[in-house]
Amino acid sequence: MYCQVCNANSLKPVSEIQLKTAKGFVATPISKCIDCGTYNRNCDYESSDIKSHFDVVSYNNIDNETHYYNSRKHFYSFILKIIEKYSRTPFNRSRLLDIGCSYGHMMEYFKQKNISVTGLEIVDSLRNRLSERGYSVFKYFDDLPKKKSFDVISFVDSLYCFENPLNILVSTEKILHHDGILILRITNRTPILNILTFFNKPIPYAFFGDCKHSFSYKGVKILLEKAGFEIHKIFYQEKGKHVPFGRHYQQQLKWLYYKISPILSSIFSVKWSPGLIIVCKKRKY
Ligand SMILES: [Zn+2]
Repeated sequence: MYCQVCNANSLKPVSEIQLKTAKGFVATPISKCIDCGTYNRNCDYESSDIKSHFDVVSYNNIDNETHYYNSRKHFYSFILKIIEKYSRTPFNRSRLLDIGCSYGHMMEYFKQKNISVTGLEIVDSLRNRLSERGYSVFKYFDDLPKKKSFDVISFVDSLYCFENPLNILVSTEKILHHDGILILRITNRTPILNILTFFNKPIPYAFFGDCKHSFSYKGVKILLEKAGFEIHKIFYQEKGKHVPFGRHYQQQLKWLYYKISPILSSIFSVKWSPGLIIVCKKRKY
């Protein structure tokens, strides 16, 4: 089997995690690419079974919107400040595309400022409600209006859910204005996953989550270069990220990781932050 990030034939099975779908839980094997260090869930995220996970997961449930709005608003505000700072077209004239826009909380901010914003969202209930609220939102990338380009394209916790992240990044590069920016927020869990696999410990769901790919920094850099992007700025410290303590010990371990990893990173000069925000530009040929 080939790594969908670096294309090396070096995937090594390391664990198995249950994933909730509309039909119940399914066991999904986890592998690690020995070449680029990315972890991968060996199941097809374009199959209807796996896609149904996103219909039943709590963070896409309309009833939970207020909870997620309150727990994420400061984090979104941090990302929005980054977009304002690095957007190279005048911000009030920028055209934005939010891929995996979920409840549309980032879109709401832009709409309030009368900035043109478009969303992509695969979950029907979320997308339909955004349409009812007057947002321009589509299900698939290919549904976007033809010949439309964007000045800012964001993937906040969504790139790692694509079956083939290179394909979506290549398509994104084509519709990004030559002076535009790409903003990625991805998890940075490979350091902790490496420790668990080194000691032959199973990988808990709370650490791997529901992603298809848990990118290493090396892996995401390879993807971006292949798709025609160059990294402009990386943020290791994420402000406003709220992780609940929870009742289950796996969630409590995750909470602890979010608390101590920034401290360990500053003491040992390692990049152990739980997430990365990456600002990219199109590569000039
Ligand atoms: Zn790889």
